Amino acid sequence: MVFAFAILLVIGLVAYIVLGSTATTRSKQRVRTVGREFTDMLTAPDVNYVKINDRIVSYSFYDSIDVFVFDGGGQMVMGVPLFADMVEEVYGFVSEASGEWKEGKETEFSTREHGNMTISYIACVRCGGEECKLLVRYPVAPIARTISQMELYILLITLAALALAFFISYTLANKLSSPIRDVSATAKKLAKGDYNVQFTSTQYAEIAQLSDTLNYMKDEIKKSDQFQKELLANVSHDLKTPLTMIKAYASMIMEISGNDPEKREKHLQVIIDESDRLAGLVNDILSTSKISSGIEQLDKKVFNVSEALYGVINNFGYLQESQGYKIMVDVDPNQYACADEEKIKQVFYNLVSNAVNYTGEDKTVYVMLKFVPQTGSIRFAVRDTGNGIAEEELPHIWDRYYRSKETHNRPVKGTGLGLNIVKAILESHSFGFGVESGQGKGSTFYVDFPAASSEPDEPASE
Ligand code: ADP
Repeated sequence: MVFAFAILLVIGLVAYIVLGSTATTRSKQRVRTVGREFTDMLTAPDVNYVKINDRIVSYSFYDSIDVFVFDGGGQMVMGVPLFADMVEEVYGFVSEASGEWKEGKETEFSTREHGNMTISYIACVRCGGEECKLLVRYPVAPIARTISQMELYILLITLAALALAFFISYTLANKLSSPIRDVSATAKKLAKGDYNVQFTSTQYAEIAQLSDTLNYMKDEIKKSDQFQKELLANVSHDLKTPLTMIKAYASMIMEISGNDPEKREKHLQVIIDESDRLAGLVNDILSTSKISSGIEQLDKKVFNVSEALYGVINNFGYLQESQGYKIMVDVDPNQYACADEEKIKQVFYNLVSNAVNYTGEDKTVYVMLKFVPQTGSIRFAVRDTGNGIAEEELPHIWDRYYRSKETHNRPVKGTGLGLNIVKAILESHSFGFGVESGQGKGSTFYVDFPAASSEPDEPASE
């Protein structure tokens, strides 16, 4: 509005000033031209007084320009008819303004009489051998009236344009700012924790885009908030269970089994197992949060995947010896990949321990690592003979704290975070992975590593 006001004010002022000054300049030019025309006619060798008279009459009649010629004695030789007493007055004016007679001298000036401007031109001319003075008078009043009328029009137009500019800018500003005000009000509600708000799109593309972005942001904040709540609930639940067990068994030892070595041994074992579970849970929680928040940087280097896998499988040796589990291994030796070795070992451990946990009655797990020449990658796969995973559960198994409802007696304690850690590690490496499973058919989890050439002093991968 201020901008429109400033522009219109400038335009109005310029028009006002230019109009006024142009009118005065034009009038002066006109008077000078008429004056010189008469000077020429009067000083011409064959001066034609009839023609001069005709011109005087015509200028007076059509242009309101009065022309007078006085001789040296103050007599009016030619000119628009005047009352006798006025002749003297006009001559007085001429001689006062022109001063001493000097041939060819001309002057031009404006005077103000009764508030009306008059432009006069006086020239000293020699006509018919005599010293004469020529006066041309042009009252600007008629033109001034036109000008002031035009100035009034300009003022009116400026005011109307100003009102229109105010109206348009107010309407536009209102139209533009109202969706922004809505967005701001919705954002305030969101800031107070109301995640059910919706940023509404408008017809303006930019604001619609902003609304979409804010809606996306809101959904993400909502998810993260929900996740935090769930995480807190799950973690506290998972920590509470082993702690309750530890406390219960410690009390039992104190009150009941303290003197019975066999029972005491059993109860102490429960305490040790539960403590291990607690430690495992805390480690898993730390790993997932570190990986997914990107705090931990990957320490990528080329390493022998086959050796790393053997190392992990060896950890399950105690299950093979004490509980009759069989881990069937088919591993291509000396396969190299570029990755964070410790993290990949964690992937192997989590997938093999799941396979052991969920395998069938035969307690057999198949572990495979093969170079695939077609894709130039190394495929790791671990297969169990268990019940498999129902189709509707498949998309969820990679989620944090997801556990199937089916209760299961497991040789390796799980936390519900294992597959989520696998997913986070493999995604951070951009490695392909997945699962093939069906109810009653067992499950095969696989990972594809891009094969790397072996370390300089090692033999090349097969
Ligand atoms: P946890 O094994 O500690 O419950 P995970 O994240 O490792 O947690 O696994 C999540 C869920 O995926 C498990 O609860 C189980 O339902 C399913 N799952 C994982 N591995 C297997 C498998 N080999 N066979 C059948 N189900 C599996």
